[in-house]
Amino acid sequence: MIRFEDVHKSYGSHEVLKGIDAEVAKGQVVCLIGPSGSGKSTLLRCVNGLETYQRGRITIDGALVDAEGPAIHGLRTRVSMVFQRFNLFPHRTALENVMEGPIHVLREPASEVRARAEALLARVGLADKFHAYPGALSGGQQQRVAIARSLAMRPDAILFDEPTSALDPEMVGEVLQVMRSLADEDMTMLVVTHEIQFAREVADAVLFLDGGRIVEQGPAAEVLRNPRHERTQDFLRRVT
Ligand code: ATP
Ligand code: MG
Repeated sequence: MIRFEDVHKSYGSHEVLKGIDAEVAKGQVVCLIGPSGSGKSTLLRCVNGLETYQRGRITIDGALVDAEGPAIHGLRTRVSMVFQRFNLFPHRTALENVMEGPIHVLREPASEVRARAEALLARVGLADKFHAYPGALSGGQQQRVAIARSLAMRPDAILFDEPTSALDPEMVGEVLQVMRSLADEDMTMLVVTHEIQFAREVADAVLFLDGGRIVEQGPAAEVLRNPRHERTQDFLRRVT
């Protein structure tokens, strides 16, 4: 469903992605791991057109991702993104945050959207927080609102960029639990994370990115238990 073919991306003369070939099949969870600065966020941002790339192709169900083309807005509604810092609208309630996209981007009727938004908030365990503002919610609760907001767009896939790394440790589990339940329902997910245990248990495949190249990729069990490359071994020693 998401395919990378020889993707190159530079900022000025600094080449950040140096020929990425990978695939996320429909219903798969793929975890992207790698050291700071290796290009993980850049790769995600290229998928939904927040960044342009210079060479190669990214396609979503065969449709080319072109950040500067007219189709990008449509593509962006099909692939939503959850950020490290939840990026909620601070002056809107949890419910209003979740309703925003479907009403203003998808132009769906408010009554329908409201029912769906309430169901989604209940699903992420926030049935009692519909009218709370982000400032009155914990980090874990805010991130669950952000996930509900992504789901409200009925995406074909969700990109997660270190969704738990800004959270206090006691809130990491509740967010991973929601992500796990999405995986159980066969949501297609590309997840940048340092939660190796999550990757081991939930991911179908793991990509290890280092210096803008995929150094190793394969089934989670293989890459995480028996990494072949020294760089992967070093990295896993440091984060586990
Ligand atoms: P982290 O684990 O710290 O989030 P990352 O793997 O997500 O790291 P990226 O944010 O993709 O790494 O950055 C990859 C490289 O691209 C880094 O060297 C970074 O400095 C550079 N970079 C990222 N964004 C920009 C930008 N807007 N302009 C110039 N250089 C950038
Ligand atoms: Mg990053």
